[in-house]
Amino acid sequence: MEPQAETQAIARRVADIREAIRRAARRTGRDPSSVRLLAATKTVDVERLRAVLGSGVRLFGENRLQEALPKLDALQGQGIEWHFIGRLQRRKVKQVVGRFALIHSVESLELAEEIQRRTQEAGIRQAVLLEVNVGGEATKGGFAPEEAVRALPQLAAMPNVQVLGLMTIPPPTDQPEDARNYFRLLRELREAMRAQGGGRDSFEELSMGMSHDFEVAVEEGATIVRVGTGIFGARPPARG
Ligand SMILES: *Cc1c(COP(=O)(O)O)cnc(C)c1O
Repeated sequence: MEPQAETQAIARRVADIREAIRRAARRTGRDPSSVRLLAATKTVDVERLRAVLGSGVRLFGENRLQEALPKLDALQGQGIEWHFIGRLQRRKVKQVVGRFALIHSVESLELAEEIQRRTQEAGIRQAVLLEVNVGGEATKGGFAPEEAVRALPQLAAMPNVQVLGLMTIPPPTDQPEDARNYFRLLRELREAMRAQGGGRDSFEELSMGMSHDFEVAVEEGATIVRVGTGIFGARPPARG
C-alpha cells in the first residue's frame, strides 16, 4: 500500500476500535477512559509506528527484545509508553527492566525473582502484571489461577517489583463470546487477590482482549486491550 493510503487506513481502524471500546464500556456502565488501547507492534516497522502515532495511540507493546530495541531508539522522545507483552526469558530480564513501563508477561515466581534481582542491582522499580493461564493449557506459560493467589506473599516481599494486576491470553476460539468466561475468570481472580491484600500497590489492571475479542474483554472489565491485526492488518506468517 502507498504510505499515505496506509496511514489513512490505520487512522480509520484506530478510530473504529476506539468507538467500539467506547460502546462496549457504556454497555456495561464503565467509563470509557478506564480502558487503554495498546498497539501490539510485533513485525510492524517504524514507518507504520509513526502512522499509528499520528492517530494518537501512545501505548505500544512489543514481544521480543531484539525487535523492540531499534524501534525504541528510532522513536525516542515521541512520548510513547512501551510495554513488554511477549514471553520473557530470564537471561533477557536484565535488558528489559527499566526500558518498559510495564511487563505484562510475568509467568512464574522464578521470573519475578529475576526481575527483583536485576531491578535491585539497577536501583529501580519495575511495574509488572502476572500472566494467568486461564484455560489451563499445557502449551502455555503463566500462573494457574490458584498459583497466582498463593504467590502473593512472596511477590509482596519483592520491594522492587510492583504487581499492578493480571494479564491473560485465553485459549483460541472462533467466537469472541467463547472468551467471555475466561475474561470473567480473570476479573474474579483480581477481586479475590485484592481481597487478600493484592500486593502493596494498586492492583487494578486487567490486560485482556485482542483484535477479535476486545469488545467482550471491555465488557468484562479490561483496563488494557492489546490490538495488533485490528490496527495494522494481517501480519506475515511467523518465522521459524
Ligand atoms: C500479537 C499479540 C497481540 C495482538 O494480537 P492481534 O490478534 O493481532 O490483535 C496481543 N497480545 C499479545 C501477547 C500478542 O503477542
